[in-house]
Amino acid sequence: MIGGGSDKQPILIAGGGIGGLAAAYALALRGFHVRVLEQADALREVGAGIQLGPNVFRALARLGLKDAVLADAWRPGAQEMRCALSGKSITRIPLGDAFFARFREPYAVTHRADLHGVLLSACRGESRIALETGRQVRSFADNGERVSARLQSGEEIEGAALIGCDGLWSGIREIVVGDGPPRVSGHIAYRAVLPRADVPDDLWSPDVVLWAGPRTHFVQYPLRRGELFNLVAVFHSDRYVEGWNAEGDPAELHARFAGQRPEVLRLLERIESWRMWVLCDREPVREWSRGRVTLLGDAAHPMLQYLAQGANMAIEDAVRLADEAARRPDDLPAAFKAYQQARYLRTGRLQIMSRVYGEFYHARGVAAEMRDEMLGSRTPEQAYDAVAWLYGGA
Ligand SMILES: Cc1cc2nc3c(=O)[nH]c(=O)nc-3n(C[C@H](O)[C@H](O)[C@H](O)COP(=O)(O)OP(=O)(O)OC[C@H]3O[C@@H](n4cnc5c(N)ncnc54)[C@H](O)[C@@H]3O)c2cc1C
Repeated sequence: MIGGGSDKQPILIAGGGIGGLAAAYALALRGFHVRVLEQADALREVGAGIQLGPNVFRALARLGLKDAVLADAWRPGAQEMRCALSGKSITRIPLGDAFFARFREPYAVTHRADLHGVLLSACRGESRIALETGRQVRSFADNGERVSARLQSGEEIEGAALIGCDGLWSGIREIVVGDGPPRVSGHIAYRAVLPRADVPDDLWSPDVVLWAGPRTHFVQYPLRRGELFNLVAVFHSDRYVEGWNAEGDPAELHARFAGQRPEVLRLLERIESWRMWVLCDREPVREWSRGRVTLLGDAAHPMLQYLAQGANMAIEDAVRLADEAARRPDDLPAAFKAYQQARYLRTGRLQIMSRVYGEFYHARGVAAEMRDEMLGSRTPEQAYDAVAWLYGGA
C-alpha cells in the first residue's frame, strides 16, 4: 500500500544511525517522502561488531535487505559461554540447522559499518529520501497540522511529522518524555576489531564465545565473512559517569581481567587501540509519542547490550512504524500511538532482561555456581525455548 502522496510534506527524521536509516527506508517503501537530518558531517557508523538475531532478519526481509546484510556477515556455528577462571564450557547453543529449523531465520554477526552501509545504499537508491548531513535538530514545534524542526543553525524545516532517532542522548526525548539523562550502569565496554591475520589460530573460533568472569565478561567472534575478529571486554567501574566512544585506558582494562584464562589475556594483549563506552540505559516507558512527534531505537528505549538487541529493536521499530503510518497516512499522531502501543512491552522487556543477563554474565560465588548449573543442564531445545519470546516473532 502506498501511504504518503507526493503532494504531502515529508516526514522528518532526526539522526542517520541504524534506526534513522531503517525508518527512512521503511517509510519510503510505503510511499512517504522523508528527510533525514543528521548532525554529523558524514553518514557513517563507528564501533565494532553487532549480533543479529532471527527476529531482525524477519524485519530485514520485510525491507528486502536480508540478503544484502547476510552477504557481508558471519554465521557462527554456536554461542558458547565459558568460565573465564577455569576455562570450562558452561553452555553451548548451536546456531546451525536446528536453530534455523526452530526460528526460520539465521543468527549472524556483522560489522556495524556493514549494516549501516546496506541501509545507507538502500536509502541512496530511493528517490523519496533526502539525506542531509551537518544538520543538528535542537527542538521542534508541533502546531497540530505540521511540525517544524529547529536546527542548531537557526533554520526551521517543516514536515508532516518528526521521528527522533537521535540515540541514547536524544534531545527530542527530553522534550517528548522529559525523564532526564540516561541511567549510568557502572558497566564499561571496551571494543576492538582485529584483522584475522593478527589472531593466533589457537585463539580464533568460528563461534560467538562469551567468557564469563566475576564482574567482567569478554566476547569474541569473527566479522565480515571471517576477515575480521571482534573483541568486547566489559567490566564494572564507577570511575566514569558519562561518555561515549572515548579512547580507553588499557591499564585499567588489564587490571580488571587479571587472573583470568590465558586465552582471554592473550587476546587482550593483542589490542593496541581500544574504544571505550560507558554503558547506559533507561527505565522503560509506555509513552514516547506526542502529537506528530515520536521516537525510535535508542531514543525510545535504550538498553544495555547484554542481549545484543538495541539495533535489532531499532530495525523492528522501523518496520512497525512504517506499517502503522501506511495504515493511517492521514492521521500520523494516531499511527504513532499505535506504533508505540505495539512496541513498548517488547522493548521494555528487553530493557529489563538485558540488566538481568548482565548480572548473570558477571555473577560471582554461589550466584555463578547456580548460573552454571542452570545453563549447563539445558538441552539446545530448552535453550531455544528460553529465547523464543525474543527470536520467535516481532
Ligand atoms: C558495546 C555495545 C555493543 C552492542 N552490541 C549490539 C548488538 O550486538 N546487537 C544490537 O542489536 N545492538 C547492539 N548494541 C546497541 C546498538 O548499538 C544501538 O542500540 C543502536 O546503535 C541504536 O541505533 P540508533 O539509530 O537508535 O542510535 P545511534 O546509533 O546512537 O544513532 C543516532 C544518530 O543520531 C545522530 N544524532 C544525535 N543527535 C542528533 C541531533 N540532535 N540531530 C541530528 N542528528 C542527531 C547521531 O549522530 C547518530 O548518527 C550495542 C551497543 C553497545 C554500546
